[in-house]
This record gives sequence, structure tokens and C-alpha cells, in this order.
Amino acid sequence: MPSTPALSAPSAGAAFDTTTIDRRKLRARDVLIDIKFCGICHSDIHQVKDEWGGSIFPMVPGHEIAGIVAAVGNDVANFAVGDRVGVGCLVDSCGECEQCRAGEEQFCSKGAVPTYNGRGYDGEPTFGGYSRQIVVSDRFVVRIPDSLELHDAAPLLCAGITTYTPLKHWHAGSGSRVAIIGLGGLGHVGVQLAAAMGAEVSVLSQTLEKKDDGLRFGATHYHATSDPETLAELAGSFDLILNTVSVNLDLEAYLRLLAVDGTLVALGAPSQPASVHPFALIAARRSLAGSAIGGLAATQDMLDFCAEQRIRPQIELIRADQVSDAYSRVERSAVRYRFVIDVATI
Ligand code: NAP
Ligand code: ZN
Repeated sequence: MPSTPALSAPSAGAAFDTTTIDRRKLRARDVLIDIKFCGICHSDIHQVKDEWGGSIFPMVPGHEIAGIVAAVGNDVANFAVGDRVGVGCLVDSCGECEQCRAGEEQFCSKGAVPTYNGRGYDGEPTFGGYSRQIVVSDRFVVRIPDSLELHDAAPLLCAGITTYTPLKHWHAGSGSRVAIIGLGGLGHVGVQLAAAMGAEVSVLSQTLEKKDDGLRFGATHYHATSDPETLAELAGSFDLILNTVSVNLDLEAYLRLLAVDGTLVALGAPSQPASVHPFALIAARRSLAGSAIGGLAATQDMLDFCAEQRIRPQIELIRADQVSDAYSRVERSAVRYRFVIDVATI
């Protein structure tokens, strides 16, 4: 069993320890990956702090993984040693249910296995990308196009696919007016994707502090939601709104920004429930929806699209000993715009 250095949180909210973990022996369809870079998603923070409940400790977070194939099992046909590959939020699913067959493994009816803070079908806890190596079934490995640097590819494996999926599902494109709430990790990739798909993109951020960046990422409009008049002026302006904020907002105030038949998609995953009066929906046949990451085929499409369209996250590369500071900056909305761990420093 290969053992590998990792950053591990021993209990909810505790500081990370540098430790070693065991990875399983390669099964016939497994790929062993030398991880080079791993992004820090706000979901890592929610889970390390047990904000959603049910966290499993010790925890090795990380589901934005980019690296190089180091070995493959006997029956792996699609990957070879030396390939540049990625792993996102999932490492297994039943492969047989309607959702898996439709390429939406994230909705597997048996329950997809998350890359960390979950249990495999063998009952063993899963450990993520804040580590030097990982063993993953080949069905959950994607190929990183040659023109994408590994450190840029990493954040796309969650932030990229999470925003790509709803933009595709709700047909963002030429003639559609898309707003993104929150210019953080998800938001800054979402703006680039929506603009590349041809939509007219607006950013709804707390302040105008990041306006120049938002426009550079492809937004046409940028609004500060802290200005009470802004939301009133924007009533009925958007066909699709992606909410990437990690805490609850006044959803009714944002629903009113939708045109008739518009959709507000919950991507951010706050720990507390939110409430909406049905009138906010009834008034213009609006929908309140949600979306979770995306399937494996869509993840590969998204990477290829980013390579073609020259979409890159804006990252800050950090060492393993900077992860706690990075977490505090993400929580203060002071991330520009995704932290990526140089895994060689673990
Ligand atoms: P992030 O980098 O922290 O970005 C969130 C952004 O929300 C911030 O940059 C900030 O943007 C805005 N924000 C923060 N606090 C706010 C407040 N009090 N009021 C208004 N706006 C606020 O986080 P992330 O990594 O993009 O993740 C965002 C959320 O999505 C998290 O809850 C995460 O768990 C969830 N997520 C969901 C999925 C899924 O499949 N649905 C996948 C990945 C992540 P401004 O400074 O521009 O206002
Ligand atoms: Zn994530």
C-alpha cells in the first residue's frame, strides 16, 4: 500500500498536521497520480469546520487535483504513465443507474463517492488532494489539455465545472443576460465561461473593489450590492443568475432581478436554510434552482473549452504552511481568486 505525505485536519476547525496516509493498492482499473497542485475551494473550509455537519475526521481535503500519472492498473486502457490528468469532486459512482448512464455521476442514485470527507463503497474514508499521491478509478480521471498549465487546470476541476454546468443547462449564450453573484473562486471562472459562451455578463459583488478584474474577466457590467439603490434599479434585468455566495443572501431581493421565466441557481452552499415567499417566484414565473458540480464527460468538455478559449483562473500559488492563512483570506473575501497549493511543499 503506497503511503504518502498529506495535510490532515484532526478535528473540526483544528490546524492542519503534516502526516502520512495510506493509499489503496492499485486495482485493475485504478490510476496512481503524483499530485502536483491542488486548489482550495470554499467547500474545503465548510467541511474542515464541519459547517454542513457529518464531517469525517481526520480529514485530508482537496478536490481540485492536477498531476501526472505514476502507475496504472492492469486493465487501464485510456491512461499511461506520464499523462497529465485531473481529478475533481468525485472518485466513484455505481456506473449503472439512470444518472450515471446519462453522464451525471454527481446524481448517482447509489450516492457518488466524494473525493474526500466521504466513504468509498468499500467503507474506507476518502482522502483528497492536499497530499502527494492519490489512487482513483480511471472513470473519474480527466485529461488536462497540453495548453493548460497544471496549476491553472486544478481550480477548473471544481470551480470550473460547477459554473460550466448551469451555464450549459440553462443555455447561456448569445442574447442571454447572465449575472454572477460573488467574484470569488467560482465567480471569477463563471464570468469568463459565460462571456466565452457569448452571454452578456454582469457581476453582482459586495463592493466595486474588484470591478477592473471583473471587466477583465469578460463582464460588461459590474454592480455593488452594498448600494441599496442598485438592486432596485436592476429589477427584471437577468435571464439567469448564478449565486456563488457561501452565506445566505436575501434571495427574494435577487429573485426580483430576474426577468419573466428567469432562473436563480444556488451554487453556494451555506450552512443554514433560507426562506423565499412564493410571490417572489409567482410574480414573473421565476425559478429557484440548484446545481451540483457536473459529470465526468462535461468536466472533460469544460477543460477542452477552457483550453480553446484561453480561460484561466487567476491563482495565488502557496506552500503547504500557508493554507491556514489562505483559509482566513477566503473567508474574508480577500482571495484573488483561487489559492492553489504547490503539493511538493507538503
Ligand atoms: P469564495 O472564493 O469564498 O467566493 C464566494 C464569494 O461570495 C466571495 O468572494 C464574495 O464575493 C461573496 N461573498 C462572501 N461573503 C459574502 C457576504 N456576506 N455577502 C455577499 N457576498 C459574499 O468561495 P468559492 O470557493 O467560490 O465557493 C462559493 C460557494 O460555493 C461555497 O459555499 C462552496 O461550498 C460552494 N460550492 C458549491 C458547489 C456546487 O457544486 N454547488 C461546488 C463548489 C463550491 P464578492 O467579494 O465579490 O462579494
Ligand atoms: Zn469545490
